[in-house]
Amino acid sequence: MIPRIDDSIEESSWKKILSSAIKSPLELLQRLELPENLLLSGEVIDAEFAQRVPEPFLNRIKKGDINDPLLKQVLPVAKEREQHQNYIDDPLQESDSNPIPGVLHKYKSRALLITHPACPIHCRYCFRRHFPYGENNPGQARRDAALAYIRQDTQLNEVILSGGDPLTLDDPHLQSLFDQISGIPHIKRIRLHSRFPVVIPQRITETLIRTLQQSPLKTVLVLHINHPQEIDQQVANALQRLQHNNITLLNQSVLLHGINDDATILKHLSEKLFDIGVLPYYLHLPDAVAGTAHFDVSKARAIALMRELQAELPGFLVPKLVKENPGEHAKTTIFGG
Ligand code: SF4
Repeated sequence: MIPRIDDSIEESSWKKILSSAIKSPLELLQRLELPENLLLSGEVIDAEFAQRVPEPFLNRIKKGDINDPLLKQVLPVAKEREQHQNYIDDPLQESDSNPIPGVLHKYKSRALLITHPACPIHCRYCFRRHFPYGENNPGQARRDAALAYIRQDTQLNEVILSGGDPLTLDDPHLQSLFDQISGIPHIKRIRLHSRFPVVIPQRITETLIRTLQQSPLKTVLVLHINHPQEIDQQVANALQRLQHNNITLLNQSVLLHGINDDATILKHLSEKLFDIGVLPYYLHLPDAVAGTAHFDVSKARAIALMRELQAELPGFLVPKLVKENPGEHAKTTIFGG
């Protein structure tokens, strides 16, 4: 599809923001008016899983506050280099569910396509921070093979577009992928998991909305927002445009120590999500990924938080507390549902 002129302006706008994301910890400290000696002292590091912070997300971080809950999600710190027992590269054993490059097939009726290996932001707690994207990079030949895999398994009825982040794929390519998936008779739903709408809301272009809205398949967009401070007016506007075009919007969060392990914050997040047409869906206990132990919240603490939420919110605003266990055929619900 040849983009219209205004489509291409929208497309170049988010791509420009993506390519100019801040990758240097020193620049991040400078922009946020934080002491540069945090780098010299080794408290802040140049990590192998490189920093990436796009401008719209940066603008929501409070200057001069090293404990800002958004900053903690993106700033690489020395604690990532600590070794902890049971914290490993692939705690979910995704490599056991990777039948061909670019496909993860954990559950009977759903298969996940690694649509694009890149993300608009690098979340320090990421459960795929060690994922072998090199071996799963979806070039066209691999994508054709992945679609053939989905076509031959008639037990599948849902395709999950993930990554990385599937919205890193540009609109014409995404439209083409939607068309190909829509042509598979046993597929009923396409689900996208993306952090783009919250970290670069400019990604919600008119072309993208048309692709999602006009698909003959049911389309669900699962967002990933952890803290109410991530939702500013621009994000709210982008999500409301999707909602007004009948795109189902769900949110999943990760429960993160020092970021959102607080009932007042979680309550505010649920209320704010609902105000803009998004249903809080899952709250994940963090996975035991190497380099992320400092984000851990105990199961007992998580359940106590859920009880507080349940006491203060209507049921539809209380997300399910879940944990993903390797080899199980669905997420394990720990509280709610
Ligand atoms: S957007 Fe998702 S996949 Fe990408 S770094 Fe963040 S948590 Fe990981």
